Formats: sequence, structure tokens, C-alpha cells
Amino acid sequence: MTQKYEMNWDLDVFFEGGSSSSAFAELLEQLKSEIPALKKELELMKEDAGVEIWHDLLVRYQKLMSLTLQSYSFVDCLTSANVKDDKAKNLGGHVQAIHADLLAASTVLEAGLAKLSDESFNALISDAKIERIAFNLAEKRKASLDKLAPAAEELVGDLSVSGYHAWSDVYSSVVGRMEIPFEEDGEEKKLSVGQMFTRFQSPDREVRKDVFARWQAAWENEAELIALALNNLAGYRLALYKHRKWDSVLKEPLEMNRMSEETLTTMWETISQNKHRLTPFFERKAKMIGVEKLSWYDVDAPLPAGSSKVSFDEAATFITEQFEQFNPQMAEFAKMNFEDRWIEAEDRPGKRPGGFMTDFPVNNKGESRIFMTFAGTPGCVSTLAHELGHGYHTYVIRDLPMLAQRYAMNVAETASTFAEMIVIDAAITKATDKEEKVALLAEKIQSAIAFCMNIHARFLFETKFYAARKNGPVSKDSLNELMEQAQKDAFINLLDEYLPTFWASKLHFYGTDVPFYNFPYTFGYLFSTGIYARALAEGPSFADKYDALLKDTASMSVEELASRHLGVDLTKPDFWQDALDLVAADVEEFLALTNE
Ligand SMILES: [Zn+2]
Repeated sequence: MTQKYEMNWDLDVFFEGGSSSSAFAELLEQLKSEIPALKKELELMKEDAGVEIWHDLLVRYQKLMSLTLQSYSFVDCLTSANVKDDKAKNLGGHVQAIHADLLAASTVLEAGLAKLSDESFNALISDAKIERIAFNLAEKRKASLDKLAPAAEELVGDLSVSGYHAWSDVYSSVVGRMEIPFEEDGEEKKLSVGQMFTRFQSPDREVRKDVFARWQAAWENEAELIALALNNLAGYRLALYKHRKWDSVLKEPLEMNRMSEETLTTMWETISQNKHRLTPFFERKAKMIGVEKLSWYDVDAPLPAGSSKVSFDEAATFITEQFEQFNPQMAEFAKMNFEDRWIEAEDRPGKRPGGFMTDFPVNNKGESRIFMTFAGTPGCVSTLAHELGHGYHTYVIRDLPMLAQRYAMNVAETASTFAEMIVIDAAITKATDKEEKVALLAEKIQSAIAFCMNIHARFLFETKFYAARKNGPVSKDSLNELMEQAQKDAFINLLDEYLPTFWASKLHFYGTDVPFYNFPYTFGYLFSTGIYARALAEGPSFADKYDALLKDTASMSVEELASRHLGVDLTKPDFWQDALDLVAADVEEFLALTNE
């Protein structure tokens, strides 16, 4: 049978010739001169510059933003599809420098807005041409007012290269050189961290137990140096916050995610009150794999399932059909992705692992590209649906000014999780093989456990670690203790063994883009689940409301977003409770299916 949809994407519509494209090289040159030129103009702005001048600058700034993003996406696509494309890697370096220039221009823009009197600023944002980005400009202005004087911030930015980001690099190079000895197929191997991690997915418990012990030992071995990196990263942040007179380590991540601490607290509290409803799943799974109590390495372990595979065409049809029932526009969008070759899905060597969606915002066509390796498993179908959800988000907001398209991490996963849930639920309902049904359902519940317990442990750890770090460096042994306690608390003592060196093995603690790279995931997951609960209740009439919500994701706080489009108060438990009830219903179904 011939294949209906191609599994390779079309990047030539953007720039012909891949990493040898002359048009792309020209664009980079253009950005290298235009961004610093705009920065200069912003620096020379008079305080009494009128609305027209501001408008012109903002239009140009946003145009440069979208061109920079387009360049970033193009290079990211090239290097992902062919990890050996050295030309593309080299272009990546140029794009990074351009991105740094754009950030510098953004800082000057923020400072310019901060210099305006309240009166002039209000006049500016009430202008009809600027109104749509009023929220984003107010946000930028506040960011500048909250920081140190521009000259001091510029120094901070320069020093951070070797004093902050460098610790992240230290961490990456430690992880990069690590080799973990492992015996497999009668052979003594040395595995990288990434390779070893995949072995946790073994259906054989003895293998997982061995992987776990070696994993622990390997991280313990490097813990001293990694603790140094973690302590210095946190120390840097705390010192900067002190000078900026910020009293809470949550200030920065909460503001980046446009949410209040009250919402965060209510979310975790409601989760904690519902955790006992997950207990029967832990007990049943333990019984199914023949142990008294699950260990850390059993929580995500797969249950035996049939090895049914689907083709890319079948996946495409299945996803499109399921989308259709919730939102015909989503189905149209998916079809366009398959027909116009917006997806790189071929299973071949030389591709980067993982999956992502990246947008090409120039021309407001809402174009995006999805990268993944499609191997026909149910997990691949979910990933494809997930990334199409991200793409749909980009598509819905395509006509908005660039600044109004920059949604935060906690709502970024809304559309993707929503799309994924539609498809997973349909797959569970339609599965004819009982073993497969059980395995799919278990995977769905395990992802809820990851968001509500595993990520909660990270949050609890980070909160306690920062409190301790204020009084000086925290030793590796104390970090192990803090982590193990956080895991016990987050998993309400349901496990037999924990992973104390998790603080060393989790990359997310070492990123310098976003501190507290944990709670936004849980927020996104539950926010999306709550929206899904709404969609199930309201049927197809919910589609328009859903699109309207997506359109506002970068233009207001999450509290306002939820109140305006869903009529709910995120600082109260009800919305979170509805989402958690869906998780509990899955557990009930799992128990019923496995009750024999
Ligand atoms: Zn995602």
C-alpha cells in the first residue's frame, strides 16, 4: 500500500537549501545590523517622544522578534533532523548572538517604558494601535522598575555569562562525560546518562533494580562537583535578588508565569488533599508486579501490553477524527499539517531524540513545524497529538502582535495536553485488547502521578534548598537528605525506596532561563485537565470558547484568563478539584479493569 502522507517536512518554503541557504545567511546579516541599530534608537529616545514614534519602534521591535524566532526555528529544525549538520550548528551560534542582541534591545525598551510618567504611559497604552499589547508593555515596564538601574543590570548581564550560566555549563560537561557501567546481553557496556535512563523502562524488575543501583552510585560519584554547581547557581540568584530587594525566590518564576502565589498554594494544597485517591493505584500496581510496595523505579515502569503498531497514515486519520469531535478547526489544522508537510516524523538514524513544535511566525500564517521520530507505538501517537496541540495554539494566535503571542511556560502546555488527552482517551475507549487498555490507562495515571507527586517533590526540594542556601552552601549529604524527605512527603510515603541523588540527575535544577522549572508543568497539566473536563461537559459548543481562551494566553494573568473564559477562580480549590476528580476516575476505572 502506498503511503498517503509524507513523513519528511518541508523547510524549503522558508529558506531554500537548508544550512547552505543564501537567503538565510542574508537574513542573519540583516538582523546583526538592524537589532543593534534599533537598540541605539531606543537609547536615544526622548522622554517626551510621542505615541507615533513609540508605535513605529514597537512595530519594528516586534518584526525583529519574529524574524529572530524564525531564524531560531529554522536552525533548530536543521540540527534536529541531522545532528551531523555542522554548517547548521555554526549558524546556531550566530542565531544565539542575535538573540542576545535582541534581549539587550528589550532591556533598553523596558527601561524606556519605565522612564515614562504614569500619565504618558497610560496615554501610550490606550492608543488604539497599541492597546492590544498594553498588558505586555505594562509587564515590561514593571520588570524594569523592579530591577536595578540599567547600567547595573547591564553589568549583571555581562557578569552572568561567566558567573551564572557558566555553572550550568559545568553541570552539562559533568553529565556529558559520565559513563555508567552496565551489563547487557552478556556484554559489559559503558552507557551515557541518556542511554542509561532509557533502561528504567525495562519491563524486567531485576533489570530496573540494577539500573537504579548503578544510577545512584554514578550520581553519588559526581555529587561533590554537582553540589558546587547547584550551590553557586542558587547563590548567584540569591545575591542578585538581595540587591534588587526581592524578598521571595518565587517572585521571578511566578511573574514569568503570570500567576499569583495564592493560586500556586491553592493548587498544591488541593493536590495534597487528593493524593490519597492515588494510593489504590500504587497498591494494585505493586500487586500486579508481585511486590509488597512499589519502589522509585517501579512507578513509571510499563505494564505488559500488546505490541500493536500503527502506521503514520493511520495515526493521522485517528487523530484528525478525534479532534473533529471536539473542535472542527483543530481537525482542519491537523489535516493541513499532514498534507502540507509540516511534520518530520521519519524513523531514521542521525536524528535528535525527543519531539517538539516550533513556530515560524513571519507573515502571520500560523505556520509551525513538528519534529519527532514516529515508530508506531501508542506513545508516538500521543506525542504527535501533543505537538499538534502546540501547533494549533500557534495557529489560533497567528494574527496577534508578536508581543501578545509570547505565552508563558505554564500555559504553553495547555493546548498540547488538551490535544493529547483527547487522543489518549479515545485510544483507551477503543482498545479492544484488555491488556492494552490497562497499559494505556496505567500510562495516563502515571503521568498524573508525575505531575502531582514527582514534580511536587522537586518543588518541595527547591523551596527547602533555597531556604537553607540563604545561610550558606549546602553539602551533598544534606542535599541528599533534603531530596529524600521531599520525595517521601510528595509521594505520601507510598514507596519502598527513593532516589536521594535526584537533585543531581535532574537537568531542570541547572537551567538558567527559568528558576523553579517545576510547578509550571503541574499547573499546565491540571489547567488543561480542568479545561478538558469543561469540554467534555459542554460538547462541541466549547470549541469557540477554547479558541478565545488560547488567544488571550499571553495577554493577561492566568487568574484573569480563567475567570474571563472559564468563569472560575484559580485561587479557590473548585477548578483544581474538578481536574483531580478526572484523575481519580481513571484510577477507579483501572481498579475495575484489573480486579480479579
Ligand atoms: Zn509540550
